[in-house]
Amino acid sequence: MTKILAISDVHGEENENLYTYLNNNDIDLVLILGDITHFGPLDFVETFINKIADCDVDVIAIPGNCDPKGICNAINEVSFCLHNNIIAYGDAILFGYGGSNETPFNTPGEIQDNKIYGDVFELLANYDYVYNDKVPKVKILVTHAPPYNTEADRIESGEHVGSQGILKSIHEFEPQINLCGHVHEAKSLSKIGSTTDVANPGMLKDNGAVLIDVKDGSNYDISIISLDE
Ligand SMILES: [Zn+2]
Ligand SMILES: [Zn+2]
Repeated sequence: MTKILAISDVHGEENENLYTYLNNNDIDLVLILGDITHFGPLDFVETFINKIADCDVDVIAIPGNCDPKGICNAINEVSFCLHNNIIAYGDAILFGYGGSNETPFNTPGEIQDNKIYGDVFELLANYDYVYNDKVPKVKILVTHAPPYNTEADRIESGEHVGSQGILKSIHEFEPQINLCGHVHEAKSLSKIGSTTDVANPGMLKDNGAVLIDVKDGSNYDISIISLDE
């Protein structure tokens, strides 16, 4: 059994409730879904990740579009950067892709949506080539940008701003879970088709987090929790 807590969009603001929660609950892994800093400074990454790790948990992170150049190195110095990478963790397989599709704000970590599609497709396809179906794993796609046209990508005006590339890859490979952030006001847990749970915890300062309890390679529970409860 593996317990994973996902948080997102820190933007350089710590939340003491996170450390309290981690000290009071039995979590194995904290996943940070990007926008760790607010356009820097990179020193914050080390401080923040070390404080989380001090709560006796593993930490894996991806960058967001608001993190500056050098972010993957900064993450790798203290933990593991999952950007464009695959890792097995207990009964789960984590596929990571940071940054976001283009925004009107010209932020540092923007990637053309067709490139996101190609890269995420390849990540998920690579795993399919080596997949051993005698050893089932819960497939978790970990992205900063949410998939297009879901609860997780709707901004205040009602417009959807997520990544069509991520949505297409999800349709093609049907991972059981997509964890994402980026759209701060779209804290939600919803579903794409009957196959994929999509969870956006919202901003860390607003106390949102996603809790995943992986029971074995095919069964899990997922919920959005409040760190201040
Ligand atoms: Zn953000
Ligand atoms: Zn973002």
